[in-house]
Amino acid sequence: MIHYGFYCDREHEFDEWFDSIADYERKAEAGELACPECGSHEVTKAIAAPNVARGTPAPAPACGMAAGPACGGCTFAEG
Ligand SMILES: [Zn+2]
Repeated sequence: MIHYGFYCDREHEFDEWFDSIADYERKAEAGELACPECGSHEVTKAIAAPNVARGTPAPAPACGMAAGPACGGCTFAEG
């Protein structure tokens, strides 16, 4: 599961859970994303990177860096 924050054209903030990025993209293209407050479909994704749900095997770097360039010291840097 991934979590995205959104805001609508009236600046209502809300968030949604998706099974995957593909699931999000499908719903976004199908127009299934709507603001729960005003029902607007003019929604914008508020964050670029998904937050991975707790309990899911998260591909977090072993070094603990959540963002930014790879430190080079962890195995994830090599792909
Ligand atoms: Zn709204």
